[in-house]
Amino acid sequence: MEIRENYSLKKLNTFGIDASAEYYTEVFSVADLQELLSEKKFESIPNLILGGGSNILFTKNFAGLVIKNNLNGISLIKEDANYFYVKAQSGEVWHNFVMYCIANNYAGVENLSLIPGNVGASPMQNIGAYGVEIKDVFYELEALNIKKNTVETFNYSNCKFGYRESVFKSELKNKYIILSVSFKLYKTPIFNTSYGAIEKELEAMKVSDISIAAISKAVCNIRNSKLPNPTEIGNAGSFFKNPEIEKGQYILLKEKYPALVAYLLENKNYKLAAGWLIEQCGWKGKKVGDAGVHKNQALVLVNYGKAKGDEIYALSQQILDSVKEKFGIALEREVNII
Ligand SMILES: Cc1cc2nc3c(=O)[nH]c(=O)nc-3n(C[C@H](O)[C@H](O)[C@H](O)COP(=O)(O)OP(=O)(O)OC[C@H]3O[C@@H](n4cnc5c(N)ncnc54)[C@H](O)[C@@H]3O)c2cc1C
Repeated sequence: MEIRENYSLKKLNTFGIDASAEYYTEVFSVADLQELLSEKKFESIPNLILGGGSNILFTKNFAGLVIKNNLNGISLIKEDANYFYVKAQSGEVWHNFVMYCIANNYAGVENLSLIPGNVGASPMQNIGAYGVEIKDVFYELEALNIKKNTVETFNYSNCKFGYRESVFKSELKNKYIILSVSFKLYKTPIFNTSYGAIEKELEAMKVSDISIAAISKAVCNIRNSKLPNPTEIGNAGSFFKNPEIEKGQYILLKEKYPALVAYLLENKNYKLAAGWLIEQCGWKGKKVGDAGVHKNQALVLVNYGKAKGDEIYALSQQILDSVKEKFGIALEREVNII
């Protein structure tokens, strides 16, 4: 394995932040990874596993070892009357995995088409879009215990999935490297088209026979028209989570702000659109140096060119402060801050 020193991460994070890694290497197998982590030199310094770099903000250079994950492969591990069980190595590009499932008629991930990043990071924040989260199709995962250098299996309940959350983002943060993820995919699809503009897009596409391929295409069309492409303008998708509040607080806010955008959750709380709150504070389209808030999507912070990670972070703090002041709501960052 080649170990590089002071390696630029600019092309390895979708914000395009020009940070560097003290040490950098790429791994292609679990054995590579285990050998690397058993080296004396790397035992005592911080390490960071990097997928597609699409949910990360480097606010400084990384003083430690950055490991780019290139573990590849997808296979059908078993099937029963209702499901295909499909295992993907963590370095697979998420969208390629989705396309593989569609080509093989494995249903359940079509609504998650075109989410950037790799399979390994998908359980980290329980990725979700258009009414589906990976917890809905999750079977199990294998992860390397960094301290013990041993492989462990996590089932659904061990992962403690929540909205953009899992045990790997909270109590087990930085303790495991996800090696592979297995999914339980439907043999008979359950079409989920009620969310967002999917039905409208299917109509515009003149789809008469609904299929997982058609839903995937509709989702790709919507995403391409709505979200800034990181190859054109640096960003990491939604920077903040949509906050959840109790009914009492919702009623008070709705009285004061009748246009408040919110929806009712199963637990009777309300989820608010963070983008709407940010827009009401006047941030949409604002620029501070090269850091900014996207002109069409207030939830997306962008790098117009040469912004530093700490400048984007400072802008996010100003946004947090103003939403707190105007609405009394504490937004939380979704992006991993390094
Ligand atoms: C334009 C755009 C749109 C997006 N839309 C969505 C969306 O609709 N829904 C959504 O949920 N997200 C969305 N995201 C966020 C992002 O795509 C997901 O969070 C994705 O899962 C990140 O994957 P990654 O491989 O790029 O992770 P990285 O950014 O490389 O890593 C993210 C974090 O996970 C850790 N990590 C990565 N791989 C592993 C591993 N194998 N084991 C343990 N830890 C690991 C990293 O150390 C880091 O802390 C969007 C991002 C962009 C840029």
